Amino acid sequence: MTSIVVVGAGIVGLCSALHLLERGCEVAVIDNDPAGQAASWGNAGHVAVEQVEPLASPAMLRSAPGRLFMRGGALALPPRALPTWLPFALRLVAASRPASFAAGQEALAALLRHALPEWEDMLHMAGSPDLLRQEGHFVLWQDAAAARAGQAAWANAATGKASVHPADTDELARLAALCRVPVAGAVRFDGTAQIADLPALRLALREAVLARNGRLVDGTATLRISRGRAEVDGMADHQVLICAGVRSAALMRQAGHRVPIIAERGYHIRSTDHDWPEDMPPVVFEQRSMIVTRYRTALQAASFVELQQPDAPADARKWQRLERHVAELGLPMRGPFHRWIGSRPTFPDYLPAIGRSARIGNLHYAFGHQHLGLTLAPVTARAVAAMIMDEPPAVSLAPFDLERFA
Ligand SMILES: Cc1cc2nc3c(=O)[nH]c(=O)nc-3n(C[C@H](O)[C@H](O)[C@H](O)COP(=O)(O)OP(=O)(O)OC[C@H]3O[C@@H](n4cnc5c(N)ncnc54)[C@H](O)[C@@H]3O)c2cc1C
Repeated sequence: MTSIVVVGAGIVGLCSALHLLERGCEVAVIDNDPAGQAASWGNAGHVAVEQVEPLASPAMLRSAPGRLFMRGGALALPPRALPTWLPFALRLVAASRPASFAAGQEALAALLRHALPEWEDMLHMAGSPDLLRQEGHFVLWQDAAAARAGQAAWANAATGKASVHPADTDELARLAALCRVPVAGAVRFDGTAQIADLPALRLALREAVLARNGRLVDGTATLRISRGRAEVDGMADHQVLICAGVRSAALMRQAGHRVPIIAERGYHIRSTDHDWPEDMPPVVFEQRSMIVTRYRTALQAASFVELQQPDAPADARKWQRLERHVAELGLPMRGPFHRWIGSRPTFPDYLPAIGRSARIGNLHYAFGHQHLGLTLAPVTARAVAAMIMDEPPAVSLAPFDLERFA
C-alpha cells in the first residue's frame, strides 16, 4: 500500500487527501491551523471558473497605478515591504508579456474547464452536495461610464465555460434593493458557483477523510532530506505531498527548489446581523474591488491585494475601508464586524505549482493557487493523486512544474 503524508489541511490538502484515500492509499495529513484561520476558510467562496485570464497580464499592468490603495483601490504595496514585493513585481512584469500571458491562459483554462464538475464530485464524496450553489454571480457598477466600460470589457474577455450577459430588469431591481446608492449597470454570470458555507465545508472534508481511515494530525511539519529522500517528522518510506499554501516555499527550499511565491493578503469583515437575501449569489462591487458573499451563517465583504510577508501585522485601515464601503453603499449589514486576514499563495505568473519534484523522487507538491485556490482544489487534487499513483493525467501538469523558476 502507498503511504503518503500530506502537509497542510487547507482546501488543497484536504481534497488531495480524499482523492488519495479513494485510491486506497494510507494517508496522514499534518496541519497547524486547528482554528481554521487559513485562506481556505476565509475566502470569498466563489467558484470562479470565469477567471481564465491570468492576472499577470498587460491589462493588469496598465491598470495597476489606478488600483493602488492610496488612490482608494485594492492594491497595497507597503513601502516597508519593498524588499518582499519588488522582486515579485519584476517577475510579474516579465510574466505579463503577451506570449507568456497566452500560454498561462491556455494552462489555466485547461484546469478551470474541469473545476465545476470536480466540485460536484468532491462534495458527493464528502456527502454534502448541498454545499455547492450553482447560481452564477453578479458584477455591478455605480457609475454609468464605469458600467459601460466594465460591460464592454467583460463582453470581450475570455470567460471559459462561464457566460456573461447584461443583467435584466428584474435582476437590476434585485441588486438596486441591496444598496442605498443607484446601480448604473450590472452583468450576470452563468456557469459559476458558490460554496454555501466554508466552516461546514471544512468539517465535511475532514469527516470524509476520517471516515476513509485517513489521519488528521495537529502540528507543524518539518521536512528533512536524507539520502535523496524527503522525510516529514521521521515518517520514512512515505511519499510526501506539500500543500502548505504560502508556507510551502520554506519546505520546498529544503529540497533545493526556487519558489518565488508571495503572500497576497486579503481582508474580510463578516456580520451575522444582516438582511441580505438568502438566494442572492455573490456580488462584486467592481468600482470598490469588493465581493459580498452570503454564507449560511454570515454575510461577508472581502477585498485587497496586499503584497507582504505572511506574518506582518495586519493593517487595520483595510478593515476600516471595508466598513466604509459597506456604509457608503448602504448595504444591509450591521456591526459588530468580525475581522479576518488571510494570504493567497501567489506566483508571479499566477499559475499554481503542481507536480513531482525533479530533485527528490518521493516529494510532490500542490500549492500557489493565488485567487483561485478554492475553485481549483478538487481538479488539482485529482491530478495530484493520479500523478502520485502513476495513472495517466486528465490534465497536463507540465505548465505547473516548479522547474519553470529554476
Ligand atoms: C480574501 C480572499 C478571498 C479569496 N476568494 C477566493 C474565491 O472566492 N475563490 C477562490 O477560488 N479562491 C479564493 N481565494 C484564494 C484561496 O483562498 C486560496 O488560494 C486557497 O485557500 C489556498 O489554499 P491552500 O490549501 O493552498 O492553502 P491554505 O488555505 O493556506 O492552507 C494551508 C494549510 O497548511 C498549513 N501549514 C502550513 N505550513 C505548515 C507546516 N509546516 N506544518 C503543518 N501545517 C502547515 C496551514 O496552517 C494551512 O492550514 C481568496 C483568498 C483570499 C485571501
